[in-house]
Amino acid sequence: MTGAQIHHADFTQFPVQNDCLEIGGIPLTRLVQRVGRTPFYAYDRKKITERVQLLRESLPAGIHIHYAMKANPMPAVVQHLANLVDGIDVASAGEMRTALDTTMPAQQISFAGPGKTEHELSSAIAAGIVLNMESERELSLITRIADQIGIQPNVAIRVNPDFELKSSGMKMGGGPKQFGIDAELVPALLTKIGRLDLNFIGFHIFSGSQNLKAEALQETQEKTLQLGLKLAESAPSPVRMLNIGGGFGIPYFPGERPLDIHAIGQNLDNLLPSVRQRLPEAKIVVELGRYIVAEAGIYVCRIIERKKSRGKVFLVTDGGLHHHLAATGNFGQVIRKNYPVMIGNKVFGTPRETVSVVGPLCTPLDLLAEQMEMAQTEENDLVVVLQSGAYGLTASPTAFLGHPEPTEVLV
Ligand SMILES: *Cc1c(COP(=O)(O)O)cnc(C)c1O
Repeated sequence: MTGAQIHHADFTQFPVQNDCLEIGGIPLTRLVQRVGRTPFYAYDRKKITERVQLLRESLPAGIHIHYAMKANPMPAVVQHLANLVDGIDVASAGEMRTALDTTMPAQQISFAGPGKTEHELSSAIAAGIVLNMESERELSLITRIADQIGIQPNVAIRVNPDFELKSSGMKMGGGPKQFGIDAELVPALLTKIGRLDLNFIGFHIFSGSQNLKAEALQETQEKTLQLGLKLAESAPSPVRMLNIGGGFGIPYFPGERPLDIHAIGQNLDNLLPSVRQRLPEAKIVVELGRYIVAEAGIYVCRIIERKKSRGKVFLVTDGGLHHHLAATGNFGQVIRKNYPVMIGNKVFGTPRETVSVVGPLCTPLDLLAEQMEMAQTEENDLVVVLQSGAYGLTASPTAFLGHPEPTEVLV
């Protein structure tokens, strides 16, 4: 992949006025003034809203959309989404607190994740949220704590399926996994649950993440629904929730095509009638993180210095790996590729040049763009990393090297 082939303007989902990117209807240069400093993350409220609308239009009516908030736990973003989606999925007691601070009712918040502690479980039971149990240990702890505090807990079983999500960026089900309870052990566990004082809700089956292939997702959704139906035969009470996971990916790199969300919707349209007939009380849930927020966010940093070394130009910025690990290729990628990076105040500007964008950290890993073509710049110009609304700030080692933390704004 050479610099010349990368047309980062392909990724410009934001309007450009006078060669300046606009986010939330505000020119970037003005937003920088408003925020008062760089670096920062900015999330576009309207883009998030439109993404949920697209999901509503594309997926069958009545599908419940949950937001997996680890993708972007900024409280203002989570509250905005609480008004738009049907539930919030949390993965820690900290996330649970943020979710409970929103207007989302507790029964529509669920808590997944391996190794939940006694403290996390008791606070979740007291809150009245749904616990996605990941092991027999959690079942015994939940039963004991619930008995002590006199509250009947809402429980679902997170199932480790006996299949994998093909072509997925991150596999989180199938084979031996730390997530969920192996599908073959679930019937016996359901019998046990039937003898306990628990409010059994249903199943959570999540197979993987960052998938752009509609066919792979369709196949997994079909297998997931079949597995849910089979396990429901052993359930102690009617299944009221079947969470079939998500895994909807977004394009990060040149040549990647957006997911065909309409094809996903059509497939679910075909599959759902028979599921609804057999599980009439079950709400069918998809849980999505990055698909909802990633494209709505940018990361903005400022060029501190233009530096030449043996014929190559380096733009040294005040942002980098410590704020945006994923964009440097160090968060789950096997081969480092450039995120879409551009000069936010000179989007289409000419002349163009091929540069590398680096941060201030003393490590060669601190690389935001390697040999990419962009407008020729000077100090104080603004570097923008697109597709940054998910797994940005909170997935980065902000304490590494002790530079100040970036701010976040929802505009
Ligand atoms: C991380 C996670 C998600 C969200 O994944 P995305 O790729 O951001 O959509 C959903 N469900 C579970 C259980 C997760 O762990």
